[in-house]
Amino acid sequence: MEQRDYFNGIYVTEDNDGTVYRWRVHRGELFTLPESTYGAELIDSLDLSIKKYNRDLDAIRELCEIDMANPTEANDRDKDNTDTSNDEESGATEGVVITGDQVDAVLNKSLAMAQKILKSREVPGELLIAAVTNAAAIPDDGTAYYYINVMNTAVEALEDLPYIVKKIYGLMYDCVEFDDPKEWYEQEIMIEKELFRRRYRSEFINHIGRQQFTKYMQVYFFDNCADYYSYMLIKFASLHKQVRQCRCCGKLFIPINKKNTMYCSRVFNEKGQTCKEIGPKIMSKEKNKSDPMLEEYERVKNKNYKRYDRQNYRSDKFKDRVNEKELSFDEYQEWQQEASAARAEYLNGTLSAEEFGKVINKLG
Ligand SMILES: [Zn+2]
Repeated sequence: MEQRDYFNGIYVTEDNDGTVYRWRVHRGELFTLPESTYGAELIDSLDLSIKKYNRDLDAIRELCEIDMANPTEANDRDKDNTDTSNDEESGATEGVVITGDQVDAVLNKSLAMAQKILKSREVPGELLIAAVTNAAAIPDDGTAYYYINVMNTAVEALEDLPYIVKKIYGLMYDCVEFDDPKEWYEQEIMIEKELFRRRYRSEFINHIGRQQFTKYMQVYFFDNCADYYSYMLIKFASLHKQVRQCRCCGKLFIPINKKNTMYCSRVFNEKGQTCKEIGPKIMSKEKNKSDPMLEEYERVKNKNYKRYDRQNYRSDKFKDRVNEKELSFDEYQEWQQEASAARAEYLNGTLSAEEFGKVINKLG
């Protein structure tokens, strides 16, 4: 345990009512994080802009590309303009040159990306730092494979976050459709064998670093995003709590009581009013008229969901998009957030029908 304190990562323990206590360990330094819940952690993960994240990730994937003996061949790959990375295919080829400098560049850039996330989001940031640091610590066996292994492991560590966020997004949205969350658990969660097969490291300890507890507690240690959020998802789902979509901002939330709440308590506008405050006003407008703009919004929403859902049936989880009709997760997520906010502004009278229409149809 003494030694473990110097690893980067997140410690988690919980009490019977579902309150989650967490500590962030960064180079031996211990930070106590605010109390949270499984559901709050999942909802929080959905606020991350995957589109921006994936852009940074693409730059790192490019750094991983291996110099070929024949540079024209490498240029040819850019012709089809698909913007997907080729690191999967760039395995052993004749005349491959990898240097330690290239590996260092990949690690440094990966770490910088994780540190950037840490500034605004402590938990995923620290988990990314931990996973990239673990990649850098892979022992050097003296072969060229070591270099490839380190680079791939670092990139996979970063890919973990958008992968698990997409998973959470899909499952939480499914939950909205169920009246009884227990059915959601049985029909949608129990089939996710990958979640249950993961090994969640835990131990019974009475201290973390210099923080002493009065009793021994079961504490989990996480050093990557996929494990942390999978764990939160299993625990959340087993509580059979309801997930709802806010009728105002369109984001998901977990109602505090079982009452039929339709609005979340996020701050919605610049005046500092929350969805809960302005939502009912918007709702009465919505009921009073059958508005072609709102019908258009519903139609495009269903269409775009189908365009996004189509690529979920392919096996290659990182190849988000293969043709124009499909939407990648980040495209869909960005549109969904923007369009539902625009809908609320339109109903609120602060956005014109024309502007609203532009947002609805921006993906074509
Ligand atoms: Zn809301």
